[in-house]
Amino acid sequence: MSEADKSTVSTVLREFEKLGLIERVERRHSGGRGRPSEGYAISSAGGLVVGVNLRPKEIRLVLADLAGEPRAVLSRPMAENVNDIGRSIHAGIVGLMISAGLEEATLRAVGITVPGLVQTDGTVRHSPNLDWSNFNPKMQLMSETEVPVFIGNNADGAALGEILLKNPPSDRSFMLVLCDSGVGAGLVYNGELCRGDGGFAGEIGHQKIMRGGRNCICGSHGCLDAHVSNRSMMAIVCEAGIEVDEFADIVRLVEAGDPRMTGIMKDYIDAMAMGLANSVSVTGLPDVVLSGGMAAMYPHIERQLHEALKDLIHPQLLVDLRFTVGMEENRERPLGGVAIALEGCTGFAALEHAPWAPPQQREPLNSLATSGETL
Ligand SMILES: [Zn+2]
Repeated sequence: MSEADKSTVSTVLREFEKLGLIERVERRHSGGRGRPSEGYAISSAGGLVVGVNLRPKEIRLVLADLAGEPRAVLSRPMAENVNDIGRSIHAGIVGLMISAGLEEATLRAVGITVPGLVQTDGTVRHSPNLDWSNFNPKMQLMSETEVPVFIGNNADGAALGEILLKNPPSDRSFMLVLCDSGVGAGLVYNGELCRGDGGFAGEIGHQKIMRGGRNCICGSHGCLDAHVSNRSMMAIVCEAGIEVDEFADIVRLVEAGDPRMTGIMKDYIDAMAMGLANSVSVTGLPDVVLSGGMAAMYPHIERQLHEALKDLIHPQLLVDLRFTVGMEENRERPLGGVAIALEGCTGFAALEHAPWAPPQQREPLNSLATSGETL
């Protein structure tokens, strides 16, 4: 865009404004002095997308506007039969739209996130957490709805959320590490998500961090996932005879300085440091955004983690290494799916789905109700 001339940019902006995707806003300078300047913001009335997060026992859906602001959420149990996944997601979308008092046809796009290896054509090559191999939920859902459907790995979705849903949008380079039922990373270079040729870039969870380590859900052993994922930590803590119901309970025990957690946390930090050091060294992305379980744990282990990393990474990379906690990507509001939908319906690769595609391909929305289950 930086090389486009001013009149082209103005024409595009006017088109977007006409379609209701963006709106003119007045920006006042701090202190209230001087003339206010004009700018554009994404219009919250420009359209809606649905984000879908597929979890081992749950299909979680969120309806959001183009700025990523959630309007309504809905949860359904995961379908028992894999052939019913598309129908079940669609039933969730219909339920979500009814709760918001809107027609399904008013949706711009649906974005699905999956924990696992997702090919660029939407095939889930392997998801140990969902126990799927070579299965395409995108194709199933597309046979149920006219709304454009996009799909991606859940760490990629969370990374896209950092790019697309932050204000102002970021063009930085970073690695987002999502630690939930599994562990994965989204690699972002200069504001662009790098998926790799097959779509599997950033699959850091199944790198081996120790020979003869714990058995992993992928069928191997010694994986980073087997030592630090929320699911693995629940197993490790239960094996130690400590009663916990969810990962947040483990964080509470660490925060309270429970002595039973000392040895467990030393192993956790060592494993996490090894996995992060290897990943940073390979990707060249020392700006690390933590999400999920690692983000919740980080404030309580910051000093020990940095100490453990000292021996594992090139001293010059260590100088640049920094951790931040990412946008909240949780089971209540799966915004990664929203980001996948936004990227899909605004990308040049999906021009036929774009909201500004020629009218014969897609009628622009005239108006959208803004009612719905208020969050
Ligand atoms: Zn593994």
